[in-house]
Amino acid sequence: MTVPISVADSATESPPLTMFGPDFPFAYDEYVRSPLGIGAVPRSAYAKPVAVIGGGLSGTLTAYELARMGLRPVVYEADRLGGRMRSLPFAGHPGITAEMGAMRFPTSSTTLFHYLDEMGLQTTPFPNPLAEATPSTVVDLKGSKHFARTLADLPDIYREAAHAWHRTLDELGEAGSLTAAIRRRDVPAIQRIWADLVRRHDDTTFYGFLCQSTAFESFALRELFGQVGFGTGGWDTDFPNSILEILRVVCTAADDDHRSIVGGSQQLPECLWSAPVPGVKRWPAGTSVQSLHADGRTRPAVVRLGRTGAGGFVVADASGTVDVYDAVVFTGQVWMLLNTIDTDESVLPAAHWTAIERTHYMGASKVFVLVDRPFWKDIDPATGHETMSMTLTDRMTRGTYLLEFGDDRPALICLSYTWADDSLKLLPLNAGERMDLMLKSLGRIYPGVDIRGHVIAAPVTMSWETERAFMGAFKANLPGHYRYQRRLYTHFMQDRLPAQHRGFYLAGDDVSWTAGWAEGAVQTALNAVWGVMTQFGGHTVPGNPGPGDLFDEISPIDLDQ
Ligand SMILES: Cc1cc2nc3c(=O)[nH]c(=O)nc-3n(C[C@H](O)[C@H](O)[C@H](O)COP(=O)(O)OP(=O)(O)OC[C@H]3O[C@@H](n4cnc5c(N)ncnc54)[C@H](O)[C@@H]3O)c2cc1C
Repeated sequence: MTVPISVADSATESPPLTMFGPDFPFAYDEYVRSPLGIGAVPRSAYAKPVAVIGGGLSGTLTAYELARMGLRPVVYEADRLGGRMRSLPFAGHPGITAEMGAMRFPTSSTTLFHYLDEMGLQTTPFPNPLAEATPSTVVDLKGSKHFARTLADLPDIYREAAHAWHRTLDELGEAGSLTAAIRRRDVPAIQRIWADLVRRHDDTTFYGFLCQSTAFESFALRELFGQVGFGTGGWDTDFPNSILEILRVVCTAADDDHRSIVGGSQQLPECLWSAPVPGVKRWPAGTSVQSLHADGRTRPAVVRLGRTGAGGFVVADASGTVDVYDAVVFTGQVWMLLNTIDTDESVLPAAHWTAIERTHYMGASKVFVLVDRPFWKDIDPATGHETMSMTLTDRMTRGTYLLEFGDDRPALICLSYTWADDSLKLLPLNAGERMDLMLKSLGRIYPGVDIRGHVIAAPVTMSWETERAFMGAFKANLPGHYRYQRRLYTHFMQDRLPAQHRGFYLAGDDVSWTAGWAEGAVQTALNAVWGVMTQFGGHTVPGNPGPGDLFDEISPIDLDQ
């Protein structure tokens, strides 16, 4: 089985669950796969420059598709190409990278997988708790340790929690009918069910949702569920967030059947930047986004963003260069528009500024060590089990993942992956101190195992909330945030905005419905591309409508004020 506690462990059922809606049920995967293409601009618009702020997945994908249409994307990047797809290499160990940001991608991210295929990147199953690719899992709670290969190996209370979660999802979350409608891509059914859930639950926290359920009357069960959770592990750090965020993840199988990108996830934005763009218009064959940049490099950080009197934009970068554009796509986390970039208020309507100010980000930290070999596979003669297992615990590590690259090669341990408060607890500590802390926790779970003796390189760590160009790992809506979320997501439909607020597009996973998942970065990039294309007089072709063409039929439910 893929996961211990999930509504969607039937990832193999047909048709498969995909990240189709539920808020905006547009088939992004079919749109990009269509041989008709995603649209074109008129020749008069060829070579027009478009500023793309941010060189993460959303920015590089936006630039790639704009270049394909014959426009000239100009990518600005404040930190490094790849953004939160960040794969840290280890000197002398090619192919081994620590995924400091995104590391596992649900197969339900079908639009993302389209671009992985287009770039020729390979994926492999990710060793999540109790996943088929995971030799064994240890759950250690309140000092009590259990070894398991499947959910059946764990004590009854874990199955009880799984059962309670399924019951709660069905009774309060209509998960059965919603997932069935998503599988069938039955848009009216998705809209009907989801609109009802949004109305009922926009003001409900994840924890409040559990408390409403008779299945979770027991505090002990809620506590255990929070610590072990579903899919990828503990979810109690999400308890204060809106239950709609959780339902989106569960009902689109985002937390199931994960794969990692062989060689590192950063390759995807790097390839979108450097690979020749197939079917490119206006530019010579072989043109890449990179080759459209004078010195083959991204421009530096944007420091000022304003409007010209004539409806264009002034973009100033950290080198002091100032350029003027007709269109700007912004893909950084939206808080950047409030602090590190001096942004004119006129760039966005007031209601959108409110939504940006209210945006809520979760922090996340990871600590990795490189070890000499996957020693955890050695069988302990005393127990007959592997020496160490993928580990879920309520100790400081929370989730420990074991990543191998071949029996005779060095291997990686993600000693700890934490979110929100669990991540904040680590902020004062440097990499060495974090490693020591995690080894101490793991030492209690695996007494006698000399993990430190296998470590062959300095530990690497990262906390996204203290990074100047990010200020958080990913957005997580709080109760009552639906209206803000809708405002940011639908901003690409600019014919509904006053004329003086057009030409600036928001993209990136934090304006998507599924922040924290790369699919959201891809989908919002495609919205922005559609918006820019339309602004320059372009359009999609009959037979392959874009997100804006179908917007009125499938627009996200508009809650009253
Ligand atoms: C810890 C962590 C774990 C994750 N795990 C997963 C996972 O397992 N699966 C999954 O699908 N997704 C995961 N994600 C989410 C995934 O990484 C994101 O969805 C995706 O990388 C977002 O891409 P983006 O382009 O929208 O944003 P970003 O990657 O944040 O790109 C925005 C870029 O803008 C740049 N920028 C900021 N300010 C400026 C400025 N002033 N001028 C120019 N550039 C600027 C930033 O440096 C950054 O490179 C994870 C993220 C984190 C942090």
